[in-house]
Amino acid sequence: MNTQDFIKIEEQYGAHNYHPLDVVIEKAEGVWVYDVEGKKYLDCLSAYSAVNQGHVHPEILKALIGQAGKVTLTSRAFRNDQLPMLYKELSEMTGYEMSLPMNSGAEAVETAVKLARKWAYQVKKVPRHQAEIIVAGNNFHGRTVTIVSFSTEPLYRDDFGPFTPGFVVVEYGNVEAVEKAITPNTAAVMLEPIQGEAGVIVPPAGYLKAVEALCKKNNVLLIADEIQTGLGRTGKLFAAHHDDVRADITVVGKALAGGFYPVSAILADKSVLGLFQAGEHGSTFGGNPLAAAIARASLKVIRDEKLSERSATLGEYFIEQLSEIPSPHVKEVRGKGLLIGVELKSDAGGARRFCEALKGKGILAKETHDNVIRFAPPLVIDKETIDWALPAIRETLNMP
Ligand SMILES: *Cc1c(COP(=O)(O)O)cnc(C)c1O
Repeated sequence: MNTQDFIKIEEQYGAHNYHPLDVVIEKAEGVWVYDVEGKKYLDCLSAYSAVNQGHVHPEILKALIGQAGKVTLTSRAFRNDQLPMLYKELSEMTGYEMSLPMNSGAEAVETAVKLARKWAYQVKKVPRHQAEIIVAGNNFHGRTVTIVSFSTEPLYRDDFGPFTPGFVVVEYGNVEAVEKAITPNTAAVMLEPIQGEAGVIVPPAGYLKAVEALCKKNNVLLIADEIQTGLGRTGKLFAAHHDDVRADITVVGKALAGGFYPVSAILADKSVLGLFQAGEHGSTFGGNPLAAAIARASLKVIRDEKLSERSATLGEYFIEQLSEIPSPHVKEVRGKGLLIGVELKSDAGGARRFCEALKGKGILAKETHDNVIRFAPPLVIDKETIDWALPAIRETLNMP
């Protein structure tokens, strides 16, 4: 079967909720993926930053295989010997006292929302069912009904109401807007330190720090959704660290399992995360021993291979090189570490055609919204590979 055969079957039998590039990948290693025709591509998406450690990292693979042959699922009705170690290692690495594991990122965001509401009623004494959570315009926090309830993207939201109440949307990057939105019933402010899906939107310097101060002053929790920006992607363990911010709740997912498995978690101190009582929240698969073993290995790779530092150095280089490309189409190059957005001018004909052209040159990047090309390769990439990619990117950005 060739590429077109696979695509035809996929389109016939699968729901059309994605618009993928027409490349059918059959294997991958490090920063490279290979399609069914044997063509090799540089992966500049990293599965939306889930494979920061590179594809099929041998150490994570070893942990998966080792654990899969022992025990994969106990449910939380019983204990297992991997989850305690994941808790401890997450705490040592992130500085949070506790964590709570889930599977997808959206579930972890839901967990953070539930915890913030619980904290509001139990600690802040907000009248029951009156808690409000402030979020930012153009946010992306996942796809559940509650989460799309506070999306500002019509495509994510319009056909899926009725919506969950209790959310207030303010302009991203605007501290005053947050200040104005805070009421005695505000439980939390939830933000992405950099908005990935919105097109790699980097807020003004000091924004997060000012929001953190507002939260402290008003007895409001700060929730940082670091599912995409966390675990080294932007050149620090968490993107909030660029602003010297420590959120009350940090949400992680994606690279927490190096692309092998869906593992997410929320991180917080005991004064907040200690509020959940037995039975109030849970997940059959959350914290299973296979997930925990994979997450432990994935964190170890981030630490041992100094992926945050790598991302900082190589990201700076990549952004600088991209900024120097003369192109009639580019409006702006922005980002932090290896989370990079190239925004095209509105008359460039859309980012999609540039992504198609890059594919032809052996580079897989994906448009985000209409006019931004995201470059976010696995953090194990090296300078030589970036240098290999730059001429192809230069050529593409100079297409007619
Ligand atoms: C990907 C993402 C999510 C959702 O994660 P899923 O695993 O797809 O549910 C939430 N927040 C941010 C910032 C993300 O990038």
